[in-house]
Parts: sequence; C-alpha cells; structure tokens
Amino acid sequence: MAAQVETKESDLLDMAKYYENYILIDVGANLTSKKYGRDLDSVIQRAKDSGVQKIMVTGTSVKGSKEALRLTRIYPNTLYSTAGIHPHDAKSYTDESWAELKQLANNPECVAIGECGLDYNRNFSDPEDQKIVFKKHVELAIEMTKPIFVHERDAHEDLLKVLDEFHSKLPPVVIHCFTGTLEHALTYLDRGFYIGLTGYLCKDKSDVGVRKLLESGSLPLDRLVVETDAPFMYPNTRASKLPDNVKDSLTERSTMFLHRYCTFQRNEPCSLPAIVEMVAAFMNKKPEEVALATSFNAMKLFGLS
Ligand SMILES: [Zn+2]
Repeated sequence: MAAQVETKESDLLDMAKYYENYILIDVGANLTSKKYGRDLDSVIQRAKDSGVQKIMVTGTSVKGSKEALRLTRIYPNTLYSTAGIHPHDAKSYTDESWAELKQLANNPECVAIGECGLDYNRNFSDPEDQKIVFKKHVELAIEMTKPIFVHERDAHEDLLKVLDEFHSKLPPVVIHCFTGTLEHALTYLDRGFYIGLTGYLCKDKSDVGVRKLLESGSLPLDRLVVETDAPFMYPNTRASKLPDNVKDSLTERSTMFLHRYCTFQRNEPCSLPAIVEMVAAFMNKKPEEVALATSFNAMKLFGLS
C-alpha cells in the first residue's frame, strides 16, 4: 500500500483556499480507453484545471489493469490504478492471467481491487462464472488489505450473498457507479459500504432510485465518493427530467468544462464538478461541502497521498 499519510479535513480546507475551484477526486475513470489515445495529456490537464486533482484509472481486464498501472508511472501522484476483471469478462479468466493480475495488484500505485462484481443485465459472461471470479477478487482484496471496487447491475441479492460470506473480514467496499434503488442502497450502507455516484444521476428516470436516495437524506456524506466513469456516463445536464433547482445550481465554470470538452461519445474527468454540483443540489447541500467530504473519503479510503 502507498505510504499512509494521515489526511485531515482541515488540511484539505487549507488547500482549497489556494484554488479558485473545488478539490475533487475522480475515483473511477477508464483512461486506458482508446478514445484518449491521442490527447491524454490534455484530458488530464483539463481535469486539473477544473479542480480534479487525482484520478483513479479503472482496470477492467488484466491487460487494462497493466495499462492503468503504466499510466500511474507517467503521472505520479495524479493517477492511481485499480486491478480487476470486469464481470463481462469473467469468461476470460485463466489461472495464468490471475497470477499476473495479482502481481499488478501488489504495486503501491494500485489502490483498489476491481472493478469486479456481477452484471446480470447483459450476462456477457455466465452468472456462475461471474460469481467464481468475483469471489476470487474479494479474497485477493482481503489478502492485500486493499478496498474492493465493485460493479453491480441487476445482481443485488447475489452480490450481497458473496460479500456476506466474508462479512467481518471485508476491507472497505465501494459500490461504483451506483444505479440501483434506495432500498438497495440502504442495504449497502447498512454494511458500511461506500456509494460511488456518476453522471447516471441525469439518466435516472425512476422515483425510487439514485435521486430518491439523495433527496431522502439517507446517504451520509461520509459514505459518498464521486466518479465520472469516463468515457461513459456523460452527465446530460439538459435532461428533461432534471428538476429546475438542480439545473440552476450548475455554475458557469463547471458547465464550461462540461459543454466544451465532454460529449455523449466521450465523457472526461473534467465533468466531475458538474456532477458534484448536481449531487449537492439533490442533497440540498453546498457543493463545496460535497467536494470536501468526497475528496476526504477517497483519500482516506484508498490511502492516496
Ligand atoms: Zn462498472
């Protein structure tokens, strides 16, 4: 693990005074995507200009986790990586590739195991294979005492079954890009898990989903982290279902980054300030407060220096 530097909330507050914008941490961006092949430098610079000081690059395969780790060496102290096999790719698991993933995960720049989990929405891999491979990730996270970065779609019950088998041994668990219901969120929060929110917030059409979770006040700030899941999950601030008070909460600065650099085809980490402003508006809190809390959570949780 990275050298543990004790971060205090007051340190972050002091730092914030030197910036005219938020200090944010994007805990999940797929920066190994070919979509950034030509201009990753600019993407990272824009992120920083927008206030995103650190980014965790998601590993979704052995090859991708290797590439994510390589990027952390090019942008030290800005990029961090995760190592995992996405449930879609569970079928590609082999003992040899797992040995390689373990080695990648052992590096200090790799701050979490994942993304891993269960996705029964599209079932690109057989659910039984998904469960076996997910369990391997949980065991690895316990062995390495690193947090688990979890992906779950339409697999809430089975996911809990796997995690509950390990209950007291579990390291911190982050349910990344949460898209479930309030009820599901409560069962995760009950177990002390963290919830990762993305631009999905703009897509949520349900009355019992992510928006409800925020509006109901059920999500404590100390359980929340934010992420873009770039290049996916573009936060469409023009979505018709988005309430006016949320649209009105967006600052000129955050929408400038969003509209100038991000599209449905290619979202970027610089969209994170807009996401934080919307999350804050739904929670009826100040965006500065959400920014501070989520950055603090991310630094503590993943041991970022
Ligand atoms: Zn995911």
